[in-house]
Amino acid sequence: MPTRSGTFTYQCESGRTRASARAARRFAALPAIFTFTVDVETHPGGSGPTGPTARLLDLLEARGSRGTFFILDSVTRSEPGLVREIARRGHEIASHGHAHRHLAEEAPAAFRMAMATARDRLAALTGFAPVGFRAPYFSLTPAAGWVPEVLAELGFAYSSSLLPARNPLAGWPGAPRGPFRWPSGLLELPVPVGRIGPVAVPFLGGMYLRWLPPWRLSGLARNWAAGGQGGLWSYCHPYDLDTDESLVHRPDAGPFGSLMLWLNRRTTLPRLEGLLEGRRSLPFAARLVEFSMVPTWGGGGEAPAKAA
Ligand SMILES: [Zn+2]
Repeated sequence: MPTRSGTFTYQCESGRTRASARAARRFAALPAIFTFTVDVETHPGGSGPTGPTARLLDLLEARGSRGTFFILDSVTRSEPGLVREIARRGHEIASHGHAHRHLAEEAPAAFRMAMATARDRLAALTGFAPVGFRAPYFSLTPAAGWVPEVLAELGFAYSSSLLPARNPLAGWPGAPRGPFRWPSGLLELPVPVGRIGPVAVPFLGGMYLRWLPPWRLSGLARNWAAGGQGGLWSYCHPYDLDTDESLVHRPDAGPFGSLMLWLNRRTTLPRLEGLLEGRRSLPFAARLVEFSMVPTWGGGGEAPAKAA
């Protein structure tokens, strides 16, 4: 058993650390059931998603939880063994798209064809066609309003692709904060957001989960829980915990964004551990009944009232 001192000191055989115990207190207000999601993609400068994903699989197994893994098509092609291993360990395999670009850059016919191919490739590997989709960059915005209908036609049951606020990267201001159904029947599970001044941030994942100070995380968790909109989920990427990666300039993030994405990765794992403490993750596919009564929203005007 490791006996290093400092923040990551192991305190008991469960692998609980001081950092994860602190994180668990920050998230205490959140509901007991949520969905732990991972966007499985490669990242420039890294050694690939296999190593960090294995750590996430071990973490989920140790906590008796199962999650949803959104696989980018290039990973399906380059790492078929990893995709099979994720499925073998009981997690849901879903699609992170055929290419890592904003949906607004897609053309409907080409998108439909490429997504059908990506879907079939996953189905051939796992034996099941994926029912879930996550857009790169949460880029389901008004400019890509046609996407939910295409996804429904391709047999997808849900999407978790929308940031329901104005955000510098991508967002759909005015969209419901909680789960809702598109007119096509596709279920949408918006990313949980919290407010910091005028800015809405998806605080339970990625760079936000890594960088937000503990007191801020506590406040955002409490506010989210008080909102009562349901459908809690977290997100992360294998690179969020890859400390061996070298700094590489990402054209889509700029020099400062690239630096932010590279730094502070040691905080990811303890915070995810804290999120799983006293809380259980179920794959989205296992929670669909929970969302069967959500309201329908057509993409315009005000968000509907919360479902009873
Ligand atoms: Zn992504």
